[in-house]
Amino acid sequence: MFSKSTSYNIVFILVMFLLFQACKCYSQQQNEEALRIKRLEMVASQIEGRGIRDKNVLNAFRQVPRHLFVPDDKRSYAYGDYPIQIGCQQTISQPYMVALMTELLTLSKGKKVLEIGTGSGYQAAILAEMVGSGNVYTIEIIKTLAQRAKETLTQTGYHEVQCRLGDGYRGWPEHAPFDGIVVTAAPAKIPEPLLEQLAEGGCLVVPVDNKWGFQTLKVITRKDGKITVKNSIDCRFVPLLGEHGKKMPPE
Ligand code: SAM
Repeated sequence: MFSKSTSYNIVFILVMFLLFQACKCYSQQQNEEALRIKRLEMVASQIEGRGIRDKNVLNAFRQVPRHLFVPDDKRSYAYGDYPIQIGCQQTISQPYMVALMTELLTLSKGKKVLEIGTGSGYQAAILAEMVGSGNVYTIEIIKTLAQRAKETLTQTGYHEVQCRLGDGYRGWPEHAPFDGIVVTAAPAKIPEPLLEQLAEGGCLVVPVDNKWGFQTLKVITRKDGKITVKNSIDCRFVPLLGEHGKKMPPE
């Protein structure tokens, strides 16, 4: 049994607790809404505004909460027009670059796609919106990043994306051929195993080192068994690591 004043105190504390929870929930909703508006602005100015026209690409970028793929202390920069450090000397690419590479792949629902360089998992989530989560395969060479990306993809609802820890230079032959392959770290030349794993009618997008110290985004297609290589824009990516690339950074 409680005295009358103790009962009043308990009711008061309970009411204050519920009020606090309601305020917290309201402020979280307001914050999510503000980030959604930033995301829509990012699509309009940085992506559509620079000429990306594929409606499915634009919708994918409106859907995926990019702020959940960057480290907590960098969330307020998530919708900026630049790459962001994600640890282990790696970056989540600039939104426009992710959009351009995705559009160049010419994907649609049901196509199978391989990404080399999972990083934060953001590009994999965009690809999942394009083709369906179960059709996305992604390989990351740095263990810390591979684990974190898998967790983020699961928490954001892309749990069917197939993640693998390893050297992506060799591709993922067990699941080949792929309709689309995107490489998000720069090799010195086009990786031969990835060409072999490209399906008929498929497309490989890869930034390859050029003689000016940057890279050129190469768009490689296989049609009637014939390989065609075209150049898109010049760009700057982190180098491909591993056996056929640069030395691994310390984790
Ligand atoms: N796509 C990523 C995203 O959405 O966050 C950004 C990728 S970041 C620009 C390049 C990534 O490629 C890094 O995480 C790096 O560790 C990874 N990487 C580099 N060489 C690799 C290799 N041989 N195999 C697999 N991943 C590699």
